[in-house]
Amino acid sequence: MSDCLFCKIAGGEIPSKKVYEDDEFFAFHDISPQAPTHVLVIPRRHIASLEDAAADDEALLGRLLLVCRRLARELGIETGYRVVNNCGAPAGQSVFHVHFHLLGGRPMGWPPG
Ligand code: AMP
Ligand code: ZN
Repeated sequence: MSDCLFCKIAGGEIPSKKVYEDDEFFAFHDISPQAPTHVLVIPRRHIASLEDAAADDEALLGRLLLVCRRLARELGIETGYRVVNNCGAPAGQSVFHVHFHLLGGRPMGWPPG
């Protein structure tokens, strides 16, 4: 999608601190980190939110989660990390290209705010 911030980041049009990329996924440091490690993991294909994912996206979303796990290990936070998806504006979604937040490096409270 031409006017989507995360499509532009994955396409290299807007710079980011890249952590990982492959044919399907792109990961980069969050510009406003909420933990010592805070990475965003996105599919290259534009899906606005989890609510907009189709049944066909089942495998893609599974692989996305496994990329999060892989990056947790590579970033050294595998003993304790959180993967968050904010779905919809009331839940805090501000960028409408589906993404998982990978957070770690500090103790996490529960419930989240
Ligand atoms: P959400 O609020 O769940 O939609 O998450 C969007 C995230 O994108 C927020 O944590 C923002 O800090 C982050 N963000 C916004 N713009 C950028 C950018 N240019 N580079 C990296 N992260 C960004
Ligand atoms: Zn997009």
